Amino acid sequence: MTAPAIVTRFAPSPTGYLHVGNLRTALINWLFARRHGGRFVLRLDDTDLERSKPEYARAIREDLAWMGLVSAEEVVQSDRLDRYAAALAALQASGRAYPCYETPEELDLKRKARRAAGKPPVYDRAALKLSVADRAALAATGKRPHWRFLLNDEPIGWPDAVKGVIAIPPGTVSDPVLARGDGRPLYTLTSVVDDVALGISHVIRGEDHVANTASQVQIFRALGAAPPTFAHLALMLDKGGEGLSKRVGSLAVRSFREAGIEPMALASLLAGLGTAHGVIAKTTLDELAARIELGEFGRAAARFDDAELRALNAKLVRGLPFSNVRDRLAKLGLGDAPEAFWIAVRANVAAVNEARDWWRVVTGPVAPVIEDADFVGQAAELLPPGAWDDTTWTSWTRAIKGVTKVEGAPLFKRLRLALTGLDHGPEMRALLPLIGPERVKARLAGRAA
Ligand code: GLU
Repeated sequence: MTAPAIVTRFAPSPTGYLHVGNLRTALINWLFARRHGGRFVLRLDDTDLERSKPEYARAIREDLAWMGLVSAEEVVQSDRLDRYAAALAALQASGRAYPCYETPEELDLKRKARRAAGKPPVYDRAALKLSVADRAALAATGKRPHWRFLLNDEPIGWPDAVKGVIAIPPGTVSDPVLARGDGRPLYTLTSVVDDVALGISHVIRGEDHVANTASQVQIFRALGAAPPTFAHLALMLDKGGEGLSKRVGSLAVRSFREAGIEPMALASLLAGLGTAHGVIAKTTLDELAARIELGEFGRAAARFDDAELRALNAKLVRGLPFSNVRDRLAKLGLGDAPEAFWIAVRANVAAVNEARDWWRVVTGPVAPVIEDADFVGQAAELLPPGAWDDTTWTSWTRAIKGVTKVEGAPLFKRLRLALTGLDHGPEMRALLPLIGPERVKARLAGRAA
């Protein structure tokens, strides 16, 4: 027997920009499908017509593409309303969907009353007790019912691929609303209908959906389908101190892009965070896919540390070849920067866009810092003629040492300060030919150049 196909999905609502918490969910779904040679579907949950916007759908696709999380298949829920209507009709026919007439205000009062009585704020199923005549009378007033799913009273549970066995006592979850009074279907229903239609084998999502899953496992069955495997990922919190932790899932993916974070730095962090094997910098999604294991994700909140992300980024940037950054450097206004420049500076930047600062050091103007004018004057006289390359620094500093008897750190520091205005930076051996004779001479003479 062949193993059933692995199909995952990422189902954002296009009501805003993608957040890093959503991106983590997308990534893990993508990697899991990839690892098992399965399919990854992008589903846009746009049944909330007021809040869903095409520009957010575009932005979501753009953010996913930035990380390489492409899907060969995309479905949009607003194109599939007939399927949801058919499913609702089937549930109505089987008695698992029942009409309710309470207003939001009435429901709110009921919840408050239950809380005050020390009971969980679960819907009391008052609408189930309406007689045919009651319903007819309500319909005659022009009221259109919303529809709830009738949960059966057996314990709800499932073996969660991350959280282990979950058991939810009956009576603690409200019968979920499947469709509004105006007939529009709601997420709890649409998600299940699509998960069935798309053959989703694994629903991997944040643990904030556990309560939805409790209802949805029963909706799957009521629609004649076996529920998929569920995996609920622990939330991400910031590193924080005691009591300071906050959810970091709400940071927009674009803010990381704009800060010059490499997609693979963020992907490495998000794929490893909260797992038993921890975070490892990888340069391709396939390498991350090769180690993805749902059982490796812990149940405790994952700690997102910005410093860890920056360190991963620096590590990846250091290994980027010029061919990979040439266009990005050009966009930063560094179209003239040669390969030697990138090779010289890449270990000194935490993000590609920081190369701008070093290009300014190369091309100037730099205000030289002259610690010892006599020494720098002598050094200027010893500058070798001719074309400079990466051996020039060594021969020049040797000559300076021979004449001035200054050597080691003091010699290098004085020259670096004079030539770059800074006491740290990329190797001078590489910078010297990039700065070039004209600017070098001017800076050694104390002039900004
Ligand atoms: N549209 C839902 C959300 O963004 C999808 C949840 C799910 O994965 O089922 O929360």
